[in-house]
Amino acid sequence: MRILLTNDDGIASPGLRALAEELQSVGDVVIYAPEREQSCSGHAITLHKPLRIREAALNGLPVSAHTVSGTPADCVVLANLQEAPPPDLVVSGINAGANLGEEVFYSGTVAAAMEAALHGLRSIAVSVTAYQDCDYRAAARFVAEFAPTYLEMTLPPDTLINVNVPNLPPDEIAGVQVTRLGRRSYENFVEKREKREDPRGRPYYWFGGTAQETDSGQGTDIRAVHSGVISVTPLRFDVTAYPVMDDVQEALSALDITQS
Ligand code: MN
Repeated sequence: MRILLTNDDGIASPGLRALAEELQSVGDVVIYAPEREQSCSGHAITLHKPLRIREAALNGLPVSAHTVSGTPADCVVLANLQEAPPPDLVVSGINAGANLGEEVFYSGTVAAAMEAALHGLRSIAVSVTAYQDCDYRAAARFVAEFAPTYLEMTLPPDTLINVNVPNLPPDEIAGVQVTRLGRRSYENFVEKREKREDPRGRPYYWFGGTAQETDSGQGTDIRAVHSGVISVTPLRFDVTAYPVMDDVQEALSALDITQS
């Protein structure tokens, strides 16, 4: 099995290393990772400046590793151009920090897996639910165990898998469950209550705030990780809202757009 690893935390991330170490026993690992952290970069690709690929080394780990001077999606695009034959599996992570609910739209980790799916490749995005003191062992083991099964499954080509793993030691993980996206929004996302000024007296803004879980109901990714369970959400990139298409068509039919 040929496995391409990438992430959005950058080449120096311990989560990437943990994944590379574990997946060595499953297949041939090649890494294309951003040279710097690109968290929350979403699905951006770089069009307006050149990109560089540099050989990299993961201390003591005998894998082929490269840095890319761009985004996670750039890494997947470039790896696809550079590597032949294409990988059997693309894994993005292990991200430090959950990617639950609508966070999948901001996440560079998920975007890299999405980009792989757009290229017709099987892909997994994997995150642990903490930013500090992360225990990557359960996440790495889960991917290594799931990978061969996942490759044997028959799935539509626009499908990818988003995995969130509770930040717990492996023996405290309560199980694994398929889930749907919950909802998680950020209160005071743009800091505005407190007036802030830069040293030159101009106002500035800083995104932040705390996550409000507005749908952590039964079956959600959020509920699973709160219960100590590994959350596995199949995603697809066709986000067409099929149930409302007829209503929108009806509204369009009432318009007279040929009027001069
Ligand atoms: Mn990240």
